[in-house]
Amino acid sequence: MADEVQRIVSGQIDKMEVSFHQIQTFDPDFADMLLDHPTHILREGTAALKMYCIEMGAQDIEPFIRIDRLPLDSRRDLRRVGHVDVQKLISSEVSVTKVSEIKPRIHRSVFQCSCDYETEIIQHDHTELEEPLQCEGCGERKGRVKFTLMKEKCSLVDNQKIEIQEIPERVPSGAQPSTGMVILEGDLVNTVLPGTRIIANMIPQMHSERKGSRKTPLFEIFYSMVSVEAETTPFTEIIIDEEEEEEIKKLVKEYGDSNGLIDLLVDSIAPSIFSTPVLRWVKRTLALQLFGGVARVSSDGTRSRGDIHILLMGDPGVAKSQLLTYMSNLSPRGKFTSGGSVSAAGLTAAAVKDGFSDGRFALEAGVLPLSDRGLAAIDEFDKISKQDTSAIHPAMEQQKIRVAKGGITATLNSRCAVLAAANPISGRFAPLSANASIMQSFKETGLETPLASRFDLIWLLQDTPEPGLDEKIAHHILQNRTSGVSELQIEDKMGSEPIPDSEEIMDIGHDQKQHLTTNFLRKYVAYAKRNIHPSLDDEAKGTLIKYYIKTRNSFNQRQNNPRSADYGISQSDKNQITEIPVTARALEALMRLTEAHARIHLRQIATVADAEVAKAIFMHWRNESNIRDESEFQTGMSQQKQSSTVRIIMQEISDANEGLMKMSQIIDAALAEGISETIVRNAISNLHRGGTIYESQTGTYQWT
Ligand code: ADP
Ligand code: MG
Repeated sequence: MADEVQRIVSGQIDKMEVSFHQIQTFDPDFADMLLDHPTHILREGTAALKMYCIEMGAQDIEPFIRIDRLPLDSRRDLRRVGHVDVQKLISSEVSVTKVSEIKPRIHRSVFQCSCDYETEIIQHDHTELEEPLQCEGCGERKGRVKFTLMKEKCSLVDNQKIEIQEIPERVPSGAQPSTGMVILEGDLVNTVLPGTRIIANMIPQMHSERKGSRKTPLFEIFYSMVSVEAETTPFTEIIIDEEEEEEIKKLVKEYGDSNGLIDLLVDSIAPSIFSTPVLRWVKRTLALQLFGGVARVSSDGTRSRGDIHILLMGDPGVAKSQLLTYMSNLSPRGKFTSGGSVSAAGLTAAAVKDGFSDGRFALEAGVLPLSDRGLAAIDEFDKISKQDTSAIHPAMEQQKIRVAKGGITATLNSRCAVLAAANPISGRFAPLSANASIMQSFKETGLETPLASRFDLIWLLQDTPEPGLDEKIAHHILQNRTSGVSELQIEDKMGSEPIPDSEEIMDIGHDQKQHLTTNFLRKYVAYAKRNIHPSLDDEAKGTLIKYYIKTRNSFNQRQNNPRSADYGISQSDKNQITEIPVTARALEALMRLTEAHARIHLRQIATVADAEVAKAIFMHWRNESNIRDESEFQTGMSQQKQSSTVRIIMQEISDANEGLMKMSQIIDAALAEGISETIVRNAISNLHRGGTIYESQTGTYQWT
């Protein structure tokens, strides 16, 4: 400790960090006292430390004492903090929802009496400026003499307010999470960001409520922060004991050996929703999403996300909302939200004025940062606000949200998987014709096309009557409704207690199929995510690369296929249209799916078997969806189609201008169709090289 003081004196650090355990081994009685009277002890301790620093020759240091690693019996849920906890040292596991900008506060104040004598007062309270009661020089009392605050002689400390919220896992079902306001000072300022989970070691304080100018006998509780512990291992809120770990391993061995693990997971995901053939595929991908791929940071500092984003587009009433709700409950750190009804912070983040009703700007975290390391289920994705639409691109891809507004600049993490659902604007999706791609339906949701490229997988769920299937679904729904327990009875039995930890691993659905209990599945997911970080072996990589190259080649061949002989493009032209069928994005999606599959099987190395499944799932959604060319994601039109459109535009221009086509004219007309300049230039240079057009003047072309 003397060592630390030395470093404080030399200005290397500005605080002394002491773990509670250290104090306890040193003096158990004192440690107990500290829990009961933290304010007083910390105050005296800080004063002593300051004196010590002065003795060592450091005059202007305001050191802090930070006590962390509090014992578990000091843990409180915010909702249970009451009068008995006031002025005690407690700790709580919370997530930070809002952070204000910084305001300086006077810490050591100097007052000058009318007699010129100066009195120093340490300001402990942040709500009221404390004045001297009596001048130590002339001995006169306050009121008879005037005290003037000597601003230039005062020392200041930074002050910041944050809002904390109970972590959802601790909140009884159906209840709103409790929130609290915490004051951070000195070195603690700017150490937390909205959306992060922390263990807050703090002292509850009281502040009398006011009605107009009158004080009432009621008090409000706020907290002053003593120290902040960042979460080191993810999912600490999910406790997995050794026995459960063994059970997880046993399950994986048993089912993994017979290749039935994915089927078991599919049966375990939302058993109340009947799996039509499409829904079975969807549930397969939801299982992969739950486990997720591995986020990696490369040596040059760029990060690639591991989370798998899925979009469910569907007609109303195909159980999208049900699936989303289910997944948000199942996934560790899952959050459900509806695009239409999110708070001011929206999906990403917002800087709000007067966030703490004292005129400061505050940064409030939206749904994505609050689901960091979990899953954000966003229903009615088509109804998200304009502001979110632009912010969501980086939030989903780089998984970072940058905010610079109202004196606050921050980068929030949004490392979560996104499961979104979208309805068509017109109420129902038009039937997809044989060769149409899913982008046609995507456009019917009214979402901007580039957003499609942020999703690894996009499913279309259509509500088409199919007699055999309809009967099965109907049976399933009715079975479900009759076998469920009345909600009122459940609430009666459990009061406001959280759902008890069930010990069961397997449950039997009313379709007589075995499936995993939600509780066990959640532990399994947390265990795998915490411990398994698969990387692909050479063979697995080879499989993906082969698929990638093969699809790219086959697209080149497809251009020679007579089917694309529309718009009267001659064979020689078609050879020159260079398409890029599968982009690197798709390759990354494939990698993530492969890693997720390996993770489900608790394999640290993803093998060719994992890659094959990922490939099958990926091919399934692409074939089903008829995506031919990934540039469709960007413009909603395949590159091939774009090139043809450019041809048509050129023809129109040449017809109107006696055979002359200006490059600028073509570009403008193409832009109006949503085709980028690059594509136009490429198409023109291809036609030029192929001898279909020639440049009669610089920038002007004619047909040969
Ligand atoms: P959406 O969000 O797609 O409009 P909902 O999730 O609100 O649809 O579902 C509407 C209702 O239809 C729900 O009560 C759901 O249980 C039922 N439903 C639809 N499809 C199925 C299915 N395959 N299995 C079980 N229930 C279904
Ligand atoms: Mg819905």
